[in-house]
Order: sequence, then structure tokens, then C-alpha cells
Amino acid sequence: MKSDSHNLALFGGEKTLDRDFKLYEPIGKEELEAATEVIKSGVLSKFLGCWHPDFYGGPQVKKFEEDCCDHFGVKHAVTVNSWTSGLVAAVGAIGIEPGDEIIVSPWTMCASATAILHWNAIPIFADIDPQTFCIDLQSIKDNLTSKTKAIMTIDIFGHPSDNHAIKSFALANNLKLISDCAQSPYSFDNNHRAGTISDIGGYSLNYHKHIHTGEGGILVTDDNQLADRLRLIRNHAEAVVEGMNITDLTNMLGHNFRLGEIECAIGQEQLKKLSRLVSSRQLVAAKLTSGLKTLSGLNTPYLRPGCTHSYYVYPITLDLRTIRCTRERIVQALIAEGLSPDLFMVGYSNIHLLPVYQKKQAYGTNGFPWSESFTRKDISYSKGICPVAEDLHDRTFLGIEMCLFELNDQDIHDIIKSFKKVWDNLPLLSQ
Ligand SMILES: *Cc1c(COP(=O)(O)O)cnc(C)c1O
Repeated sequence: MKSDSHNLALFGGEKTLDRDFKLYEPIGKEELEAATEVIKSGVLSKFLGCWHPDFYGGPQVKKFEEDCCDHFGVKHAVTVNSWTSGLVAAVGAIGIEPGDEIIVSPWTMCASATAILHWNAIPIFADIDPQTFCIDLQSIKDNLTSKTKAIMTIDIFGHPSDNHAIKSFALANNLKLISDCAQSPYSFDNNHRAGTISDIGGYSLNYHKHIHTGEGGILVTDDNQLADRLRLIRNHAEAVVEGMNITDLTNMLGHNFRLGEIECAIGQEQLKKLSRLVSSRQLVAAKLTSGLKTLSGLNTPYLRPGCTHSYYVYPITLDLRTIRCTRERIVQALIAEGLSPDLFMVGYSNIHLLPVYQKKQAYGTNGFPWSESFTRKDISYSKGICPVAEDLHDRTFLGIEMCLFELNDQDIHDIIKSFKKVWDNLPLLSQ
């Protein structure tokens, strides 16, 4: 008979812990002071949507963009009011035509693919690598058609996509490469900053990300022409092209994607903290890994050689044949031990299975843009097109939401202790 402390809380035993973890809060007095200065100035935004020096925004926008150029080592940084806006601007800037195809991962936040549809282009979903969870080059190759115009990679959870190899493939096939680095703002791939290998990359500044300005995003590129086009789409392109002597009107329909002065002042302070904030997450991840790696049937995060990870999420996969019980049952037992349900990400996302793709209905009622003659007719979004992403989502992926909490050593200790206790009792959970 095992002692009570070995008895799972799920079955009436003693809980491993009984307290809440501290929530992650990267905003401090520096941001408060920076925002206050802007408010005192009275100039909360200085953008003008016409050809004028203020087309490029006010002093805080310009300063934040300069800081981003230095920080990310790029020629151009363009701030936007969300990374969703940034993705829309990026897809428009590369000169996509209605019906053109962009190959994208289904294992991401919905906005990556929606940005493609916004220009009446077609998202084509390629499967992911089972270890990095990023788009798989072989599957990109398998999905290439005469309609393919670009690839969008997503550094999901903070692991860099294999952008060096994907960029070579893109160049060889005359495709553009866009990188969604919302979750990898301080990741490196063989000394290259995530987002800077592609034609256009960028980062999210929403409240849930490593650093934030409430809402916001940053686009980065080394290409002068793409940078101009991004700035035009950000700020009412159609009203500016004449003054700027732009004759190529491809996708020169602008938006108001402008980020305000307060956010850009906050962003300057947040950028200074980025490396420290991500490094502390890497330390938490290393401690979790050293505690969890001995559990059989549990795979701790993989890191491709030469890469660093930003650990937006700490990704685990389960070998169900070894553990012989479901992921859901394990999470139930971990929560009973006193861990917050918010700590767990049970599965992630299979974007291709969203209703918009299943019903092929984006604009209006008649299936536009899939129903149009410019769109290839044999496009499938059926379950089964991305077996790796689907199996991870349905059965084997378990994420730890590192970016929600400020985990200290005691918290990490208790997380590992809870996992070990559950693993010691796996046979009871499988009954
Ligand atoms: C957060 C996120 C986005 C969207 O960013 P917003 O700034 O919220 O618009 C896009 N893609 C990924 C992978 C994200 O995590």
C-alpha cells in the first residue's frame, strides 16, 4: 500500500501544491514614464495619410523603428497596430494576385492564413515537422503548384523555422518568403536573428507575447521597395501613390495600420528588456527539461542544431504507446495536483479545419475566392492533408504556457514533482 502522499490527488490523495503562480508582467516603471511623457506632449499620433513628412509618423514611431533596425540588424522596421495587420501588409507588399497560392503551416494562430485570404489569395496548408512543429520543407515541395507565389513560415512556440533551407528553395522557385515570428522575437538560427532571413519577417507586440505594447507589431525587411510598399499599405496607399510617384499600383489599397506614439514609446522600453526576458524563459525551460527528461514516454523540447528558442510555449509530446493512457487523463491528474488549468495547452491548432476552409466561404455567400475561375479547382482542406499536425493536435501534443506565468524555482520544482507523481501512477490512470 502506497502512502497518502503518493496517492494521486485525483483519487483523493494529498495535492502537490496549493497556490497560484505569479502572472507574467513585463511592464514596469520605465514604460509608465515613457507613456506619461507622450501624454504630456499631447501628440498621441502624428501620422498623416497623404504624401507629407508625417506620412512616416511622429517622433516616437520613428525612434522605435530606428531602435528596431539596430536591435534586429535590419535595414527597415515598420511598426503596425497589430501583427495581424503586419501579416496582411506583408502579403499585399509581395505583389500577390487573386488566386495565387501561399503555402503556410496549419499549426499557427489563424491570422497567418487569414492574411492571405485578405488579398483573395489562397492558403495551401503544408504539414509540419514533428519535432520543431514548424513547416516541413518536404511538404512544401509536395504542395508546390504553378500557382504558388510565396511561402509563409511560422516560428511556432519560439523555435526558428528552417528558413535557410526554405529560402534556398524559394529562390530556386521564384517564390517570396514571409516569416511570422510573433512567438520567436529573440530566437536565432545559426547566428541569424529569426525573421531576418526571409524577404519580410515580423513580430507581435500584443499583450500575451514576450514583450508588448498592448497591441502592436513590427515588420522587418532589408528590401527598400518592399519597405516602401509596407509603409504604403500601412497608411492609405491609394491616397499617397501619386505624391510619391509610385506607378505600380499592385495591391496599393491602403489601410490604417498605424501604431500610436504611446505604444511606440512603450515599445522602446520593452525592446531593451527583450533579451533578458527571453533568457529568463530559456532558463526556466532548461530547468523543466532537466526535471522532466527522465520520464518515459515524455519528449522534452527539441532544438535544431545552431538554433535558440524563445519558449513562448514549452512544447512536450507524449509517446502514447509507452504511457498507455490519454493526454487528457494526464492533464486531469496534473490539475488535480494543484497546477492551474491555464498552464496547459492540450493540442494547439489545425487551421485548415476551421469552418472558413471546410466550407470554403471567405467573402460573401458564394464561396469567393475559391469559386472564382482564377482559383485552382482541386484544393483540399480535408482532414488527413496534414497528418503530423493533426495527430499532435488530436492526441500527443501537450504545451506548457510559459509566457503566462513568472515561474520561480519553487514553482518549477512543484511542476516537475507533479509530473513525476503522475508518471509514478500512470498504470492507475490508464484503467
Ligand atoms: C500572436 C500571433 C499572431 C497575431 O498577432 P497580433 O499582434 O495579436 O495580431 C500571429 N501569428 C502568431 C503565430 C501569433 O502567435
